[in-house]
Amino acid sequence: MRVQLVELAPEWLSSGVSRGRMGFGFLCPACGRHRVEVWMAIPIDEGQPVTTTEGRRLYDVSGDSFETMEVHGAIPCGEDLLFVHEGAVVVG
Ligand SMILES: [Zn+2]
Repeated sequence: MRVQLVELAPEWLSSGVSRGRMGFGFLCPACGRHRVEVWMAIPIDEGQPVTTTEGRRLYDVSGDSFETMEVHGAIPCGEDLLFVHEGAVVVG
């Protein structure tokens, strides 16, 4: 299954005061029951990444728009793995 990120209600994520694009979230195309959060190791707003104390993982991301987004590494949802490649989410 391959779904364009822009069709999954994507939103930028930030955490804390005066922060910008620190990650992004989208509706999970594998199960449709939750939103997936991808927090960036190097946030686009050039600040520090979010803390990982709540079990959050940081991802290496390239691209600064939902149309071009690339995430290095798989994002787990249950037994499924999600891959974000060239602005599309692939369920593997
Ligand atoms: Zn899911």
